[in-house]
Amino acid sequence: MAELFYDDDADLSLIAAKKVAVIGYGSQGHAHALNLRDSGVDVRVGLREGSPSREKAENEGLKVRGVADAVKEADVVVVLAPDQVQRHVYADEIAPNLADGATLVFGHGFNIRYGYIKPKDTVDVIMVAPKGPGHLVRREYADGRGVPVIVAVEQDVTGNAWPLALSYAKAIGGLRAAGIKTTFTEETETDLFGEQAVLCGGASQLVQYGFETLTEAGYQPEVAYFEVLHELKLIVDLMYEGGIAKQRWSVSDTAEYGDYVSGPRVIDPHVKENMKAVLGDIQNGAFAERFINDQDAGAPEFKAARAKGEAHPIEATGRELRKLFAWVKPSDADYTEGSA
Ligand code: NAD
Ligand code: MG
Ligand code: MG
Ligand code: MG
Ligand code: MG
Repeated sequence: MAELFYDDDADLSLIAAKKVAVIGYGSQGHAHALNLRDSGVDVRVGLREGSPSREKAENEGLKVRGVADAVKEADVVVVLAPDQVQRHVYADEIAPNLADGATLVFGHGFNIRYGYIKPKDTVDVIMVAPKGPGHLVRREYADGRGVPVIVAVEQDVTGNAWPLALSYAKAIGGLRAAGIKTTFTEETETDLFGEQAVLCGGASQLVQYGFETLTEAGYQPEVAYFEVLHELKLIVDLMYEGGIAKQRWSVSDTAEYGDYVSGPRVIDPHVKENMKAVLGDIQNGAFAERFINDQDAGAPEFKAARAKGEAHPIEATGRELRKLFAWVKPSDADYTEGSA
């Protein structure tokens, strides 16, 4: 059984006694910085010269510094730049300015797990990884709740790494939900697998194939959009509340029978073999190497895949349809501006 931790297991005064620098002000960075600030922690945000995030952070009343200056001021440095640039930021600006006995905090274990960052042996290295998107981490905190976090210690030179990790997790609101103890390796491999096989990769491909199958058979794209994309949220909400069993209880018997008969026909055992191959490439480092090599080359594969996804007809159908929804506040505007 996993070890779970809640607010009562953590001492907020540990992180409140530190000076914290949050490097990056994107999806996770803004959420960590604002939640820490609202929990009474002395926080500054470290950003590159000319970062478009500077104004956003300053408008929230946060102190903003260059990355090197933020690190020099801090006892705790939270690395929330994109995974593919973290090693450069670490080598150029963090490591030379990081005091002995300081703590490095990660929101995902990628760079440590695959060895792109080898932290100095004079600092503590911890992870507090919310299991949800940054914008939800902020919204839940503001509403008095929290997104569950997973917490790990990679390097403990001070002997205080674990209580500080719990204190940090409490300050961002994670322990209002729960903290689960893990390792950098387990977090990295399961996070990448989940997003690739099920949450992002699997679900996106499933929705696109469903939309293509219906529209190629001559059904209206707007009707297909409702059936394969819009309703997915309603189904997932039921799964979130009460597992797959509650979802099956709530849908009609017709739908439930169709689930049993056709689910395994669409997602056949071959798909599980494919998932195992995906997991294999995560474990052996092939995925990480492909991602970083592509990024270092200017991200041609990544950009082409993104353009192809954006050009899929389901996106145009959805954009038009969502304007007509009375009950969904359209968020296409945030998204096109780049929500991070
Ligand atoms: P993001 O792309 O949303 O934001 C990154 C931020 O870093 C931006 O403010 C950007 O301006 C800044 N930045 C870029 N280059 C920089 C540089 N050279 N120096 C300083 N700052 C720089 O990133 P994100 O999705 O929040 O991811 C940050 C970390 O959090 C990653 O390790 C990621 O795996 C992890 N994480 C993200 C989510 C999520 O909700 N997106 C969830 C869990 C964990
Ligand atoms: Mg994840
Ligand atoms: Mg992830
Ligand atoms: Mg039923
Ligand atoms: Mg993103």
